Amino acid sequence: MSLIHQSYIDLTGKELKGSAELVYSGRFKGYNANIRMTKDLFGQRIEIAMSKAWEEVNDDIKKGLLQELLSKLFKVKTRTMEMDLYHSFLKNVHVAIPKADQDPHLLSVFQQLNEQYFHGLLDPPNLVWGEASYRQWGCYTYGTDTISMSSILQEHPDLLQYVLYHEMLHKKLKFACKDGRSHHHTPEFRALERAFPQQSLLEEKLKRLHIASRVSSRRKNVWRFWR
Ligand SMILES: [Zn+2]
Repeated sequence: MSLIHQSYIDLTGKELKGSAELVYSGRFKGYNANIRMTKDLFGQRIEIAMSKAWEEVNDDIKKGLLQELLSKLFKVKTRTMEMDLYHSFLKNVHVAIPKADQDPHLLSVFQQLNEQYFHGLLDPPNLVWGEASYRQWGCYTYGTDTISMSSILQEHPDLLQYVLYHEMLHKKLKFACKDGRSHHHTPEFRALERAFPQQSLLEEKLKRLHIASRVSSRRKNVWRFWR
């Protein structure tokens, strides 16, 4: 029986109908994966793709990931021991991820904040400049252990520190952002965020920059129109 079929039985107590295929794909970074289901004349077909990094991982942990994907697809609420195993694996895997991408400037700001606010205890993640966004100032992805910062912040050292601190809190609390929006700003998170000196002032400054960017892009449109 395939690992996918076995994972489904352990999750639901029922047999998985149709065929299922597991592939290791070079398209994914870190420990990412996805699932899709197609239906045709021959019935239902499940395809699961995982990053190559998964090839090395123990089957129980892999089953946890498969069950996580299957439970999303089939809207199953059950939690299994393997799923817990998978989650603790993900939370610790960053230690093993090679840090190939560390911008030297971001790394030095990181180290400074690390000493100042985290007792030097955070492991430096990958640290990269992202696109020049006025909307997504920063992002932490724990699958690849990467903090990405908007290039706009290159010109605002105070905001760079503050936003990097925010992303470091995500790393510390082991949460990631999705599509530029984080859903993991818990009360604990917010309290730690407020501990940053001049926090409300910096927050205000970010908001003003964001609004100014929208105004100036509207002006640009008008300008183009007039020409
Ligand atoms: Zn956040």
